[in-house]
Amino acid sequence: MLEDLLESTGHDPMLFPVAISEDAFAKEAQHIEGFAAEVFWITRAGRRKLDKKMLLRPTSETAMYPMFAQWIRSHADLPLKIYQSVCVYRYETKATRPLLRPREFIWNEAHTVHEDWSSAEKQVEEALRIYNDVYERLGLAYYVLKRPDFDKFAGAVYSIAFDSWNPDGRVNQIGTVHNLGENFAKAFEITYEDAEGNHRNVSQVCYGLGISRTLAAVIAQHGDDHGLVLPPEIAPIQVVVVPIPYRESEGKVEAYAKEVYESIKKAGFRVQIDDGERTPGEKFYHWEMHGVPVRVEVGPRDLKEKRVTISERVSLQRRIVGFDETASTIKDMFNSLMENLRKKSHSVLEEMTVNAKDSSSLKKAVEDKKIVRVCWCENVGCAETIKDESGGEIRGYRIDVEEKPESPCIVCGKKAEKVVYVAKAY
Ligand SMILES: [Zn+2]
Repeated sequence: MLEDLLESTGHDPMLFPVAISEDAFAKEAQHIEGFAAEVFWITRAGRRKLDKKMLLRPTSETAMYPMFAQWIRSHADLPLKIYQSVCVYRYETKATRPLLRPREFIWNEAHTVHEDWSSAEKQVEEALRIYNDVYERLGLAYYVLKRPDFDKFAGAVYSIAFDSWNPDGRVNQIGTVHNLGENFAKAFEITYEDAEGNHRNVSQVCYGLGISRTLAAVIAQHGDDHGLVLPPEIAPIQVVVVPIPYRESEGKVEAYAKEVYESIKKAGFRVQIDDGERTPGEKFYHWEMHGVPVRVEVGPRDLKEKRVTISERVSLQRRIVGFDETASTIKDMFNSLMENLRKKSHSVLEEMTVNAKDSSSLKKAVEDKKIVRVCWCENVGCAETIKDESGGEIRGYRIDVEEKPESPCIVCGKKAEKVVYVAKAY
């Protein structure tokens, strides 16, 4: 989904090396400072100690940008828009967790180069649209937050992040968009000749979508007491056909189930038939637990009346329809299922979000696994106090809606500049 959207907006796929030289990594001062604590170093090869050590990419700016400096000569080379879907490596000192905080994780990172700040700003908007589109199709609910300055990407002018909710109250950052301005252009000497023959620094944007973290959000936001729930668009098996044979009509029911299966397959769905040894009831539980969006049951009565019984994973509602309406009913159910997931997810996020006007109610709300809206003066000292006293951290302020502070800073009582969201985070 993501790669299709990137390519249809002019991003070219590429693959850069996983190992980066220390020299390249050290070029942008803030960048190396920001990542120094989480880098894996390669210091030996075979029996020899390397003269120049290398590192495993924690992100790929410093692998790509020396090449950008060679590729870009004139304004005709701009914009340059590329992406790669790869593993990156970060030494997490906190406990690791599957999908949410591993030391090796798969993501998609895009990097773009522009003539000036205003084209870079337009690119930020395009990146936000692409990510919103992906998350929307997955039915996820999240906040799009501009990070406070002290928490921006190392080397960026500013960072915007997508924070999705998790049932334990911790937010899960599933994607980020960074406007790098000319910071990396200066460090890597990426310049171009404009139409008047002047040499100028390029402006750059980069954005990353955490694929494993996005899957974690899908699992955590949509799962229910019956198990996993997968949006049809990404479900490996979208439909399962379960024959329910009775002794006298066994062969016939199975033949009809096969016919139903073939017609669903022909309609373009990813479908599987479960003609294994388990009882129908066991099969229902199994496929519900594995999040298959739609189940089609085929029993003797269905055979007799040339119909099927279709049930949907989220509402668990069943519908009986004629054989010819199978594919269109599945399609309808996919739509209503997604609508359902979206609504549920958004209402949870709404319920999870509360306001706090003083430190003790903020602390209690964080303990109660809430995302807390507070007014803040933009002073770093007050942000640290919030973290120390509540255990939650300032994640940033919304950019999709304008929220004006209606009370003073929750810590110092001075005039507040921003309405920010405070939560624990992964
Ligand atoms: Zn303050």
